[in-house]
This record gives sequence, C-alpha cells and structure tokens, in this order.
Amino acid sequence: MDERTEQELEELRVDLEKLKSELEELLALSKDGAKPVELDEPIGRLSRMDAMQHQQMAVANRQSHQLRYKQVCAALNRFENADYGYCRRCDEPIAFGRLKARPESPFCLNCQGASERR
Ligand SMILES: [Zn+2]
Repeated sequence: MDERTEQELEELRVDLEKLKSELEELLALSKDGAKPVELDEPIGRLSRMDAMQHQQMAVANRQSHQLRYKQVCAALNRFENADYGYCRRCDEPIAFGRLKARPESPFCLNCQGASERR
C-alpha cells in the first residue's frame, strides 16, 4: 500500500480538527440531556419511562461521542510524532479512503476487522 502524501496528511489533519470541534460542540450540548432524570421534577407530557429511556440514549450517545473525541485527539497527537496514518497494530499505512471516512481510525481495515471478530 502507498504511504500517505504530505497533501493527503494535511487534508486529514484539517478533517480531524474539524471533527474535534464538532465533537466538542456535541459534548457541550449533550451535557444536560445526559443528566439523570430528576424523579420529583414535573416532566410534562413525557412519561417518566420516556424520560428515562431518553436519558439512557443521551448517555449512550454521549459516551460514543466521548470515545470518538478521545480517538480524534489521539490521532492529532500522532501527527506530532509523524506516526499518523499507520496502523497501530501491524504498522502498515492505512488506506486513504478509510482515513477519509474515519480520520481517527487507529487501525487498518484488516486489523479493525480482526479486533471486531474477536
Ligand atoms: Zn493493521
């Protein structure tokens, strides 16, 4: 597989920065939704069940955003070491198409597949 060019890397770095600020925004917005449901609080037309389900979903969403945020930060850190774009497992360059779709991917498609099958 080809190594990433400077231009491709720059493009991906911009994508990562953008993703980082989007996730920061999402995390700031989801702060309130993920708070535990106050049981004495009047919750209007929503039943308590709905409110709790809604809150659980908000927590799950928030957790996946937090995880992705961590991966994005880790990917940006790897630029510092000129280590970005290489699989953390097999050390092969990760395909550009894959990085373009998920610039924070730490693994190549093969290794990602292997860890998901486990
Ligand atoms: Zn790999």
